[in-house]
Amino acid sequence: MDKLNDRLDAIAPCNGFAALSNAFYSRVPTRPVSAPTLVHVNPEVGALIGLSPAALASEAFLDVVSGRAPWPGGDTLAAVYSGHQFGVWAGQLGDGRAHLLAEVAGAQGSWEIQLKGAGMTPYSRMGDGRAVLRSSIREYLASEAMHGLGIPTTRALALVSSPDPVVRETVETAAVVTRLAPSFVRFGSFEHWAAARDTERLRELLVYVATRYYPERCVYISGELDVVQTTLGVFAEVTARTAKLMADWQSVGFCHGVMNTDNMSILGLTLDYGPYGFMDAFNMGHICNHTDTQGRYAWNRQPSVGLWNLYRLAGALHPLLPDADGLRAVLETYEGQFTTTFHAKMGRKIGLEDFGGEEDEALLEALLQLMHRDRADFTLTFRSLSEAVAGNPAAFKDLFVDRVTAAEWLSRLEGRLRRVGKTSVETAQQLDAVNPLYVLRNHLAEGAIKAAQTGDFHELDQLFKLLRSPFQPVSGAERFAAIPPDWAHDIEVSCSS
Ligand code: AMP
Ligand code: MG
Repeated sequence: MDKLNDRLDAIAPCNGFAALSNAFYSRVPTRPVSAPTLVHVNPEVGALIGLSPAALASEAFLDVVSGRAPWPGGDTLAAVYSGHQFGVWAGQLGDGRAHLLAEVAGAQGSWEIQLKGAGMTPYSRMGDGRAVLRSSIREYLASEAMHGLGIPTTRALALVSSPDPVVRETVETAAVVTRLAPSFVRFGSFEHWAAARDTERLRELLVYVATRYYPERCVYISGELDVVQTTLGVFAEVTARTAKLMADWQSVGFCHGVMNTDNMSILGLTLDYGPYGFMDAFNMGHICNHTDTQGRYAWNRQPSVGLWNLYRLAGALHPLLPDADGLRAVLETYEGQFTTTFHAKMGRKIGLEDFGGEEDEALLEALLQLMHRDRADFTLTFRSLSEAVAGNPAAFKDLFVDRVTAAEWLSRLEGRLRRVGKTSVETAQQLDAVNPLYVLRNHLAEGAIKAAQTGDFHELDQLFKLLRSPFQPVSGAERFAAIPPDWAHDIEVSCSS
């Protein structure tokens, strides 16, 4: 482990995105929230950019993460992008309430540091540039929960709250989240230049993303970057990562809620946590976003929306290529890549490392159908399998209305597992290593939010700690792993944040 710095100004930022042409962003200072309180800070993420716990506790750090001071040596800006929202071209969007402060090289790669909620930018449109405490807690916890699950995501460094009023459906209070990612470039960042028919900027962005983030996909001919081959290589990698991300989301019952192309990361990260949800009762058509009345982004549609979004990205990259054949060939690999990864992941969730073939697919499908019909709890169904294969099926069967069919399914699985030849103890251990006990259920987030709104951040901190190691049972934390209370069904999560 490299030595950590106690001072922010001991680290020299490199600011790669800011070195692009001015057309990509607007330099705009943050506007601080008043009377900021550092509600939570994440030392693990601090260490990624070389900051010690002392640095994170310093006044200088609070100044930066509340928007009161720029990052020492940084170059504060808001990026422009466009995108398709709910299937419709939305034109220019951009960082309406996000400021990129700096990019810092850490021991394991470089990280862009961004504030969300630190005031208006030229891209704020009708918005106020602010974020409320409620949605900021949801983003802070969800990104670290995803990381704990091993799913690619932006990371959360700090959460600041302020008494400043912010008007949403009701009057709430302001907050600022500091988040990190190697890059915040979106599919919509490319769509922006394609729509403007500015091939020069499109090429500049592609070369930047390729050389910085996909060096292994860069093709050089006589020392010169070959833009055609490189564009296809990058697109293939983004496609692979997106297919894998969709399989990751599906395998933990995560619904993003707003899979617009401006929320799709060019690095295949989970990005922009708004009205997301981890499913409680399993419903294949579950819609987590109250605003999504058509169910465009329902759980079972996410994989195909991932592909739809890749088509939009392909359309944006097309001007860099002589024809669309290469892009089309890559798009045709998506479904296979998704299905292979999804089956491998779901197979492991039922104890089958060697999942494959029609019989296994039928076994998995039978479980999902049964869970769907009986609205069994997604997380607990899989988690209870370890006990079930170890000879204690009660917790598993209790999740179903039709316990007889659940028991029959279990015997089918056990028959199949006998052919694998592992001991039930080995299988149980493997199951518990891939099936989380703790996920960020809406009612748990709600509990942390309600307490935080009264100035009590203990619940937030406890959840944060559990979600970092979601496979590891903690004694005394049983309520965090329990079936949600009835009121959880009534929580409405919308785009308003
Ligand atoms: P989202 O769907 O939340 O990712 O946001 C879509 C677009 O709206 C992005 O350009 C955001 O920057 C912008 N936006 C969302 N909320 C606000 C706000 N309160 N103030 C300014 N811009 C916002
Ligand atoms: Mg967004």
